[in-house]
Amino acid sequence: MKRKKIVAGNWKMNKNFSEALNLTSEILNLSEKTNCIKIIIPPFPFIHAINEILKSKIDFYTGAQNVHDQEQGAFTGEVSASALSSVGAKYILIGHSERRIFFNEDAQFLKNKINTALKNQLLPIYCFGESLLERESGNYLKVIEKQISEVLFHLQENEILNTVLAYEPVWAIGTGKTASPEQAQEVHQFVRSLIKNQYSIETAESISILYGGSCNAQNAKALFSMADIDGGLIGGASLKAEDFNTITNSFS
Ligand code: PEP
Repeated sequence: MKRKKIVAGNWKMNKNFSEALNLTSEILNLSEKTNCIKIIIPPFPFIHAINEILKSKIDFYTGAQNVHDQEQGAFTGEVSASALSSVGAKYILIGHSERRIFFNEDAQFLKNKINTALKNQLLPIYCFGESLLERESGNYLKVIEKQISEVLFHLQENEILNTVLAYEPVWAIGTGKTASPEQAQEVHQFVRSLIKNQYSIETAESISILYGGSCNAQNAKALFSMADIDGGLIGGASLKAEDFNTITNSFS
């Protein structure tokens, strides 16, 4: 099975409504035929309107930056998976380091979120990655193995096949420091081997693993040329239509 190439733009807590619609239009105006899936992940209030614009476009989808693990109820300020599905979101970020660090999201919570998302036909983009300290200690593969196994390895094969993975070294997010293509490839290949050992070679070969962490219009081509890197999760550079489109055109 050929793996899906994916570029996802995580807009984080940026843009107001009209700016968000303008950026979406600019992306579409500049967009050329590419061989990848493009996902726009705006703040919650803009998902529906952006999805209305994108839903007739080939290979464009919307996603959400967060979801609660409970189906519904008295959780003021939270958003449910079914609510996100109902406004057209198809993908959902889970495990982003900003959620782990600033909102103390732990493995059990992330595992529950993955289950709830899948139950509601949202496709998780599960983020994982080591801190600077963990990289420098040389222990980073162990850290990554734990992040993957404790949150994902209860899933059935058909469920993990509906999950996208995103390697996001914390030291590279928003810092301008990118992992080198070789550093990223080492981790992507390692994660694919974990999936192979837990499930099967076919499943390991079918799952898209994205790189995220200061990926931009200049370095995307070199990163995406690596054998196990299937695209990018893009923060800062996804807020500029030209850069986002250059990144979507960076697959050879
Ligand atoms: C991210 O937050 O997912 C991300 C990759 O951010 P940036 O591209 O800005 O490093």
